[in-house]
Amino acid sequence: MDLSYNAEYQAFRTEVRAFLDGHWSDGDRAAHGGSEVLIGRITRPEPRVTEFRMRAIEAGYLYRNIPRQWGGGEQPFDPLRSAIIREEFKRARAPREMVGQGPSMLVFTLLEHGTEEQKKRFIRSTLLGEVLWCQGYSEPGAGSDLASLRTRAELDGDQWVINGQKIWTSNAQEADWMFALVRSEPDAPKHDGISYLLIDMKTPGITVRPLRQMTGESDFNEVFFDNARVPRSAIVGDRGKGWIVSRSTLKYERALIGDTDINRRTLDGLVMLARAIDRRGRPAIEDPVLRGRLVEVETKLIAAELHSMRLLTMQSRGEEPGLPGMVPKLYTTQLSYEMARLAMDISGDGAALAPGEPEAPAMGMFVHAYLWSLGILIAGGTANIQRNIIAERGLGLPRDASQKR
Ligand SMILES: Cc1cc2nc3c(=O)[nH]c(=O)nc-3n(C[C@H](O)[C@H](O)[C@H](O)COP(=O)(O)OP(=O)(O)OC[C@H]3O[C@@H](n4cnc5c(N)ncnc54)[C@H](O)[C@@H]3O)c2cc1C
Repeated sequence: MDLSYNAEYQAFRTEVRAFLDGHWSDGDRAAHGGSEVLIGRITRPEPRVTEFRMRAIEAGYLYRNIPRQWGGGEQPFDPLRSAIIREEFKRARAPREMVGQGPSMLVFTLLEHGTEEQKKRFIRSTLLGEVLWCQGYSEPGAGSDLASLRTRAELDGDQWVINGQKIWTSNAQEADWMFALVRSEPDAPKHDGISYLLIDMKTPGITVRPLRQMTGESDFNEVFFDNARVPRSAIVGDRGKGWIVSRSTLKYERALIGDTDINRRTLDGLVMLARAIDRRGRPAIEDPVLRGRLVEVETKLIAAELHSMRLLTMQSRGEEPGLPGMVPKLYTTQLSYEMARLAMDISGDGAALAPGEPEAPAMGMFVHAYLWSLGILIAGGTANIQRNIIAERGLGLPRDASQKR
């Protein structure tokens, strides 16, 4: 692993800084900086943010691996340049790529499996946040064992008629479209009878019912389909081959959740919290036990960041990440949980106050993060399922006997 940047990359960094100085002012930073959301409610970007993103795409700084034809920056694969852009945009608190199920997962799935028409219609508008998406995979009887899903889609002339129910659908109440897995061949073996459909959420016959979660918010929903009709052309990939398409989406979902950036920001916040909170007349950060725990989580975070660099090095050599690529989702979500748990301990009695209470430490931001950290261990495949993947596909251990197909 080589951690230094040569002269060419240093020059590139200067170029990126000049771009940011010219296009993202202090005023922009104050008004719009730091608005990224990983998980939770996704909202439409403000016009100024979209305008900046369009310029950054034009300059080749955002969506570098997406062809210009579909609204991307289309640049040669260069993970070091991408890392520099990430660092500089973060430093300037400038908007990076949109994050969410549409831009981070569906777009790449469409690039792999979509028709020209689907790419043209959806990719650019999704990258800019003009079209918001939700993911209709889980059902009341199908989570970890997703292939047991039962929502049916039957072809009637030129339309799919959809009946059934999805659950835990993040952002369904805001989304314009859903990418969904449906059972189109009820008689085929369970993995072979699934199709991948793009569904307009305004289609008659769709009902969205928000679920209240323990943060007090309603980010998840149940979605009911009652004879909802969508065109035959709404399918991505071949009929009955949706499982293959869904694997692509899941791969991108786990990469999104396994990103270490969020943990680094959480740790910075934790240190600030430990400095601000009083513990027996001294800042909590001077308590040797809490200091020890802060060092422990930072050590784990550094290990995760170095692991990301290892993956980056492998990528830059064109190597398949294999086992090392399976680790980040499990490792970073567990670390998020540990950090949030530590924040609760640092907050002491204040951790009992609800998010948003004026007297709660950091306005209860960490209580909120703690409640979310339990969910993120589950989203995109639970920690146990990640362990199964690492054991079976990564280490070649025998398959779980109960999961044999
Ligand atoms: C924050 C969040 C966001 C989400 N967003 C979406 C979304 O937008 N769209 C969507 O479709 N879904 C979404 N989900 C749902 C998520 O994908 C499922 O919750 C997840 O796949 C687990 O399924 P389940 O809840 O049915 O639990 P189950 O599959 O019933 O699992 C229950 C428990 O059994 C364990 N378990 C199950 N099978 C095995 C096994 N083979 N080996 C070992 N242990 C096992 C699990 O680890 C878990 O502890 C979201 C969930 C969360 C928490």
